Amino acid sequence: MQKTYLIAFMCLLVATVKLVAQEGRKCGFDLFYNELLNVNSQVDLESHFQAQVKQRSMQKSNTIVTVPTVVHVIYRTQTQNISNQQINNQINVINNDFRKLNADTINVVSGDSKADLRIEFRLATQDPNGNASTGITKTATNIQNVCDFQNGTYDQVAPAWDRDSYMNIWVCEVGGGIAGFAFPPNTPGVSKGKDGIVIDYTNFGTGGTAAAPYDLGRTTTHEIGHWLNLLHPWGTNNGDCTQDDGVSDTPKQSGPVGGAFNNCQNPTNSCGSRDMLSNFMQWVDDRCMGNFTTGQKNRARTALEIGRSSLLNSTGIDPVGLFENKLNPTLKIYPNPNSGSFRIEGNFDNSLEQSFQLFDLSGKFVPIQTYRDDSDLVISLNHKKAGLYILRLKNNKGIFMQKLTVYPSVIP
Ligand SMILES: [Zn+2]
Repeated sequence: MQKTYLIAFMCLLVATVKLVAQEGRKCGFDLFYNELLNVNSQVDLESHFQAQVKQRSMQKSNTIVTVPTVVHVIYRTQTQNISNQQINNQINVINNDFRKLNADTINVVSGDSKADLRIEFRLATQDPNGNASTGITKTATNIQNVCDFQNGTYDQVAPAWDRDSYMNIWVCEVGGGIAGFAFPPNTPGVSKGKDGIVIDYTNFGTGGTAAAPYDLGRTTTHEIGHWLNLLHPWGTNNGDCTQDDGVSDTPKQSGPVGGAFNNCQNPTNSCGSRDMLSNFMQWVDDRCMGNFTTGQKNRARTALEIGRSSLLNSTGIDPVGLFENKLNPTLKIYPNPNSGSFRIEGNFDNSLEQSFQLFDLSGKFVPIQTYRDDSDLVISLNHKKAGLYILRLKNNKGIFMQKLTVYPSVIP
């Protein structure tokens, strides 16, 4: 009797292991997204988003976009305190994958879409206070599975840098067999402080702690995909073919296909067509991946434009040390400080007027109103909170910055 029980238990264990092997990489996305879709408002949001994908300009403009990035390493053991080299390797992987510079596009079946998303990632050179930075933070903890999908306290142990100015990546112990997770823009119930990308230290970068078969940095590529509102190719299908990922050039798929699927060869079929198993949004092994599609490119760039546009105005990757520079030797700003209107004196053409931007000290973009007064430009900061701001001018000669101090308005 006891023996039977033991054998039964072993079968269960084997069955469990086999199931995981078949599904492959487990990312936390399905754990919350399927539930979200049970809420009607989310279904509305998705159809609204798909309509936007057709209209938005950024996916059409094709400009290269650079995302300021910060990596927060949280470690409980010295092994988990990964090297900067491993982090740099990861940054290289995502830059290759999002620019279609990866060598393994060879995994992509001939004729399948392979897109250059024209999105790049650079470690921050400035922290939120304007100080020089490597874009890497390292924090010790004694909390096990500090990045647990349900109860993780990573946002308290290593607080996010303002997600409106930086893409935050936490590298830490996730546990639960989950390789990583990330939230699409504006996910209901996800706080600002948790809105980033979380990757288990065994699935991050290359070399060091990265462990096969997720040792080529593709978990991060995949999770950034979710962070830019890409779905798994099977959408929310669970063995059926009723749902889709909102992208027309990834074939419908009935569910996850994991592992190396016959040594990365001979993809499976479902929903009446061959599954595109080389896609970065699959759960296959790192070495079997190779492409995003044009449809995914349009979706991701639209998500960046609608849901994460403030990143494009971040000062996070601007060179440090320009704060004290004069904005431009030929431009004079006065009075500074004052409580409202700053006058910029100088002969500059109209196009330059559009090139001024204002940021608060956390690097957050602050909308401004400008108007011309003869040859001068007046920047109105009436009704802005008193404090220090950075005025930035970016033109073909470089980036110029000047501190502006706004005094509290005096109410007579
Ligand atoms: Zn996923």
